[in-house]
Amino acid sequence: MAIASRLDTSILVTRKLPSSVLAKLESVGLIDLYLGETPMSHDELRSRIVGKAAVVSMLTEQIDPAVIDAGQDLKIVANVAVGYNNIDVGHARSRGVIVTHTPDVLTESVADFTWGLILAATRRLSEGERVVRAGAWKGWAFDFMLGAELRGKQLGLVGLGRIGRAVATRAPAFGVRVAFAARGAAGLESAEPMSLDRLLNTSDVVSLHVPLTPETRHLIGKPAFARMKRSAYLINTSRGPVIDEGALAWALQQRLIAGAALDVYENEPAVHPDLLSLENVLLVPHLGSGTTETRTAMADLAVANVVAVLSGRPALTPVP
Ligand code: NAP
Repeated sequence: MAIASRLDTSILVTRKLPSSVLAKLESVGLIDLYLGETPMSHDELRSRIVGKAAVVSMLTEQIDPAVIDAGQDLKIVANVAVGYNNIDVGHARSRGVIVTHTPDVLTESVADFTWGLILAATRRLSEGERVVRAGAWKGWAFDFMLGAELRGKQLGLVGLGRIGRAVATRAPAFGVRVAFAARGAAGLESAEPMSLDRLLNTSDVVSLHVPLTPETRHLIGKPAFARMKRSAYLINTSRGPVIDEGALAWALQQRLIAGAALDVYENEPAVHPDLLSLENVLLVPHLGSGTTETRTAMADLAVANVVAVLSGRPALTPVP
C-alpha cells in the first residue's frame, strides 16, 4: 500500500486535545483543528471532512452516512470514547473506512465514578449540599436527611463488560454483594448471574453498563421501574437512551424507586425538565471518564490508531 506524504495528508480533529497529543498526529499529517466549545454543526462536519484521510471524533459528532460519504479520502474514524453509537459503523465498513474506539484506558476511571454516584445517591450528598448552600440547614438532627446503608445489600449490574467488572471488583470494600444480568458466556466469580427481571426485582442498587444499541435503547422504562424495589436506586453511567427519561421522572415522582443518579442523558446536553425539579435524582454532566489522566490516555490511544492506520499498520483498537 502506498503511503501518502505528510503534506498530502489532512486530519480533522473535532475538539481541542492536549498539545502533546496533537504533536504525535502532526508526524503523519496536517491537522484541521475545530476550536469551538460546542460541537460543530452537521453541515460544517460534512464540509470539513472533505479531503481528510482521518478524523479524530468525540461522542458528540454524528458520523452518519452523509458525513462518511462526504469523506471520500477517509481511511479511519478514531472515536475518543469506548462507546461508538455516534458512528454508523456498518456504513463506514462498506466504504472501507476503519473505525476505532478507546477501550480499557477509561475503565477504572468510570468504575470509580460509578461508585461515587452510588455513594452520593444513597447518602443524599447533592441534596444535602443544596440545603447547605441555600442556607436552609438548621443544624445536626438525629433523623435529618437519612440515607440508605450499602453494607449487606445487592448491587445489580446490567452488562458485565470491562466497566461492569471493574465496578464489581470494588464492591467487597463496601460489603455489597453483586448480581449481574449479561449476555453470552459472561461470568464473574463471587457475582450471581440472573435474568434482568430478577435482577430488577431483587437489587438495592441497579447500575447500567451496556452499550447503546437498538436492543438496549429504553431497556429501562415503565415496566422495569414497576419491577424494582421501592427502596432501590438506579445509576446510569452508560448512555442516556438506555433509560426512558420520561418514565424515570414518573417513577421518581411516584416514589416507585428511592432515587437515581445520572451521568448521561437521552438528548445531551438537554435534561428531561421533570428531572430538574426532583430532589431524589442526582444529575451530573457526563463526567464518567473525566480525569485529566484518563482523557489524555483516551486521546493518545485515538491518535495512536490514526498514526498506525495512516502509516499502513493495523489499527490498535478497532471496534469489534
Ligand atoms: P464492554 O466491555 O463492551 O461491555 C458492555 C457489556 O454489555 C458487554 O459485556 C456486552 O455483552 C453487554 N451487553 C450488550 N448488550 C447487552 C444486553 N442487551 N443485555 C446485557 N448485556 C449486554 O464496554 P465497556 O467498556 O464496559 O463500556 C460500557 C459502556 O459504557 C460503553 O458502551 C459506553 O456507552 C459507556 N461509557 C460511558 C462513559 C461515561 O463517560 N459515562 C465512559 C465510558 C463508557 P457482549 O460482549 O455479549 O456484547
